[in-house]
Amino acid sequence: MGCPASAVPRAGRPAASSASRALRCTKASSEDLIDELGRLPGVGPKSAQRIAFHLLQAEPADVRRPADVLIEVKDKVRFCSICFNVSQDEQCRICRDPRRDRALLCVVEEYKDVVAIERTREFRGRYHVLGGAISPIDGIGPEQLRIRELMIRLADGAVTEVIPATDPNLEGEATATYLTRMLSPMGLRVTRLASGLPVGGDLEYADEVTLGRAFAGRRSADD
Ligand SMILES: [Zn+2]
Repeated sequence: MGCPASAVPRAGRPAASSASRALRCTKASSEDLIDELGRLPGVGPKSAQRIAFHLLQAEPADVRRPADVLIEVKDKVRFCSICFNVSQDEQCRICRDPRRDRALLCVVEEYKDVVAIERTREFRGRYHVLGGAISPIDGIGPEQLRIRELMIRLADGAVTEVIPATDPNLEGEATATYLTRMLSPMGLRVTRLASGLPVGGDLEYADEVTLGRAFAGRRSADD
């Protein structure tokens, strides 16, 4: 096993073609690298190729550094035991922060929505990450989401207002409606974000100002 010595690129030979030839005779080829990069969100085939050739020509240390960071983050990351946001500790920094208003709970689909809402600096409560949205066509019902965990959280009465901030699309709306119907009879104030978010899109793609305004202008779901 292993490459013939002649195929291994020598130091000082910057040509990407020699590096890709060398990789082709190992288990992982440059094509594999392009394929893997192309799987990343937002990276098309051309970008994948560009990144791959950049990496193949880079100094080994410059490639190892981001690779190490990637592996370390992936190893350490877990989900907050309270809100299911990504966290490096048992509880995320938002749940640990005593300055956050415990009476306000924003329910989102994914942890990336937490990032989007945090960017607006408009919301000072805490979050609950459902892990998706109700979508019968994909076989996702309420029991596939962290709704049971939400109910457990609400049991102590500390939360008085719940804000379902799901994506402004069919699945997100279905999820928000389900939550409103379930939570309103419990005496909780359920508020919805003000309109203005781009319909059909993802919450995470809304710009900060629009999302911030939607939070500031939220109103009772019964209105
Ligand atoms: Zn948390």
